[in-house]
Amino acid sequence: MKNTIAIVGRPNVGKSTLFNRLVGQRKAIMDNQSGVTRDRHYGYGEWTGKYYTVIDTGGYVHNSDDIFEGEINKQVKLAIEEADVVLFMVDVDTGLHGLDEEFANVLRRYQGKKPIYLVANKADTNQRAHAAGEFYALGVGDGEIFTVSSANGSGTGDLLDAVVSHF
Ligand code: GDP
Ligand code: MG
Repeated sequence: MKNTIAIVGRPNVGKSTLFNRLVGQRKAIMDNQSGVTRDRHYGYGEWTGKYYTVIDTGGYVHNSDDIFEGEINKQVKLAIEEADVVLFMVDVDTGLHGLDEEFANVLRRYQGKKPIYLVANKADTNQRAHAAGEFYALGVGDGEIFTVSSANGSGTGDLLDAVVSHF
């Protein structure tokens, strides 16, 4: 598929919330409403006249804060294989988490092959956005951290501008 964005990251950082925002209202299905675990969701969206596919990779780990190493590898591999741009999502509310480092360790192997953007979610306020600096330690991405609030939409336009520049 052309123009594909994949969202990866540990459970509960807000991947599905961003997915729903990028897809718009047409496919606003949250895993946690059905309790169904599916390993991925595909949706379609458009930004500044560019059409894209977005993959929410984290369905199978819902209702759990934990994720196994095998699942991390699977999620990242799927994203790298299928997407043109990978969004690695972390959570400024929780802060740096051990599982973020596990994801970063796997993602770093693919650095340079695909654009990987570090997305610090739940930056609902400016104060929270400033807390995102600690994620530089993950060493993933091109040095820029996109601070967004998937809940209220702030920062998602700037993120999409950068993403669709590859399309
Ligand atoms: P996923 O497991 O990574 O797919 O995360 P979800 O999208 O299911 O979100 C996990 C929780 O974080 C839910 O309770 C969301 O409502 C909440 N959440 C997601 N994005 C934001 C955000 O930008 N700000 C805040 N405050 N909460 C958010
Ligand atoms: Mg989810």
